[in-house]
Amino acid sequence: MQTHTLGYPRIGSKRELKKACENYWVGKITQQALKNQGYEIRKENWLLQQQAGIDLIPSNDFSFYDQVLDMALTVNAIPDRYHETILKTGNTETDLYFAMARGYQKSGLDITAMEMTKWFDTNYHFIVPEFVKDQSFSLFSTKIIDEFKEAKALGIITKPVIIGPITFLLSGKEKEDGFNRISLIDNLLPVYLELLEQLEEQGAEWIQFDEPYLALDISDEVKAAYGKVYTTIKTKFPKLKTILATYFEGIEENVETATNLPVCALHLDLVKAPNQLQTVLRHIPESMSISLGLVDGRNIWKNDFKASLEQIELAKNAIGKDRVLIATSCSLLHSPCDLALETDDEALPSQIKNWLAFAKQKVEEVATLKYLTEENLNEDQKAILEANLQAIEERRTSPVIHNQAVKARAKAVTEKDAERDSPFAERQILQHNNLKLPLYPTTTIGSFPQTKEVRSWRAQFKKGQISSSKYDELLKRETKKAIRWQEEVGLDVLVHGEFERNDMVEYFGEQLAGFVFTKFGWVQSYGSRCVKPPIIFGDVSRPHAMTAAWTEFAQSLTNKLVKGMLTGPVTILQWSFVRNDQPRSETCKQIALAIRNEVQDLEKAGIKIIQIDEPAIREGLPLKKAAWGNYLNWAIGAFRLSASVVSNTTQIHTHMCYSEFNDIIEDIAQMDADVITIECSRSQMELLGAFGDFKYPNEIGPGVYDIHSPRVPKKDEMLELLEKAKAVIPEKQLWVNPDCGLKTRGWEETQAALKAMTAAAETMRATATSPVA
Ligand code: GLN
Ligand code: ZN
Repeated sequence: MQTHTLGYPRIGSKRELKKACENYWVGKITQQALKNQGYEIRKENWLLQQQAGIDLIPSNDFSFYDQVLDMALTVNAIPDRYHETILKTGNTETDLYFAMARGYQKSGLDITAMEMTKWFDTNYHFIVPEFVKDQSFSLFSTKIIDEFKEAKALGIITKPVIIGPITFLLSGKEKEDGFNRISLIDNLLPVYLELLEQLEEQGAEWIQFDEPYLALDISDEVKAAYGKVYTTIKTKFPKLKTILATYFEGIEENVETATNLPVCALHLDLVKAPNQLQTVLRHIPESMSISLGLVDGRNIWKNDFKASLEQIELAKNAIGKDRVLIATSCSLLHSPCDLALETDDEALPSQIKNWLAFAKQKVEEVATLKYLTEENLNEDQKAILEANLQAIEERRTSPVIHNQAVKARAKAVTEKDAERDSPFAERQILQHNNLKLPLYPTTTIGSFPQTKEVRSWRAQFKKGQISSSKYDELLKRETKKAIRWQEEVGLDVLVHGEFERNDMVEYFGEQLAGFVFTKFGWVQSYGSRCVKPPIIFGDVSRPHAMTAAWTEFAQSLTNKLVKGMLTGPVTILQWSFVRNDQPRSETCKQIALAIRNEVQDLEKAGIKIIQIDEPAIREGLPLKKAAWGNYLNWAIGAFRLSASVVSNTTQIHTHMCYSEFNDIIEDIAQMDADVITIECSRSQMELLGAFGDFKYPNEIGPGVYDIHSPRVPKKDEMLELLEKAKAVIPEKQLWVNPDCGLKTRGWEETQAALKAMTAAAETMRATATSPVA
């Protein structure tokens, strides 16, 4: 029996990589210093896994920005706009890499970033590869080989983790019509072969190919491509031991395809789909081993050893222990780094801490599981097993988890609670009379730049270095500045700026019952951006009002409308670590009821527009279509439950980003928000086609510029996008706004961009064909 992990977090346990990257981008550190930091993290991760006793330690799980972008560079899937300009102006490969990720505005060049989207149903975002017809590939970046050599120099023969060619192609996008990207496999495969040849030459024995698509709904063409790719690899490299890694879903529907591939081992996510093991065991050929993904890479609960050992036993009995590997369910990229850093008993009580495991602990769990499979357990092994049993049992029955009042309220919810008083068409008239906004009303998504200063106030406040009244005063000053500035630039619907918020989910979680927090529980979201998901451990309720005071304060400063700003129930659920002892739908309903109370408080305080952000609603969609209906039903129900408490005249906004929404557009309409602001700009408004075709009934603000990049958009670009929007959506339904919140941007670029944006809206109004709003 062997152990392995599918990947380890690369941000560093104290976010060292984030800091290094951001310093490099602003020119504070050299490229060499950045590279050194990368090496330190890789080395630490390898040694940590070696010390824990992991047999196959991954390499190439490190990335400066994103592993899919790394793969694009590896196989030279570099769009011409970067290739031809960036390298020719004397930049390095690293600069080219970051230009693809973040756009490039230097030395007279002005190139937008590549598109970014969610990695399957996680909150990790990857850079979407671009493909054109007959595209050719070649080995460009040698990162995979370099990192293998690096570990070898430390005495560790790693298992390179490579995004499989099929998953790489399927993750991308066709940039022109008339071909299917899977047909590029014949051009792509030779590059993989070249890479494998070099790895084998360097002494690689095991290779992990990540092919999560094999666990999804795939066509016969894709199935055939799988056969071709892995047969070719086997023929050329009969000695290489390949692990084909599936995760995030079970492979039941594709079990024949998967077990017919000539790979050495098949990895299964047994956390997501425990029952697939039985199916796979019935099909597996003698030449194939099974890697059991038992330790959850996506949640923070301690592994239930007893349950895991039963799975191991089952596999062992069926195929023999030499053909069994013990592993994490997926890469630990989605887990926080190290629970041992959490020493604040007030924030994370030791009782709850004892129910948890982060990446480092999960690595130990993988090794421990192997240790516990030995025959005739010794005293030490028995004690480990007993302690685990106790922790699991204690969590199941603990009174800190269960709140009868919350359960009763959730049970009493009726369908009517999730319905507005009147249909949208009626509400729209009432709202237009009430709000008196111009055509093409301008607004932002909520947050304004969280400057170093603002963050330092929060840090000082948390450390007790400034009092809560001082902290409040500073935030109020910042809010006031933001309001004045928004008035000046002529925005129509203002926001308070969210300066008091660290993170849009954490801020609410901190005020709700049933949540706990970590200090260092960071998980990579995209590039250098990390999030620190709260942990929902028990029944959720709202002990006191959360946001009303800030919104009221902001509204008191201006005659313009200030919109209240809340995070929706699905997003809070989706971006937290959730309980695994009750259905997600139940937890979501509890959160929705808490947000409903907040919506009610805002309306009572005289706030006329309330935004309930649901950027995560799309990513919660199950990966397999068969499960969509059920999810959408409860998720949309939860949103509506949170919003429907207001009167007709109060305008409910929602906001979505990071995803492609075409396939759920009708469901989005079911949310019945009066206005939706939505990300569109990176994909040049492709999305609007869907909104137009479907005749989306409510109002919509398609994001007119990309806030994920520091690049300042020009007025004309936004005008062009607005014209595209106007072509498919009636003017009186259109809003003008950026495509997401501005917290990660600087003030200078934000001001320039928003000035251009309001100017674009003015121009649209001047040429409007609808006479009145
Ligand atoms: N209101 C939030 C903000 O502006 C929305 C963020 C998001 O959609 N991710 O920051
Ligand atoms: Zn957003």
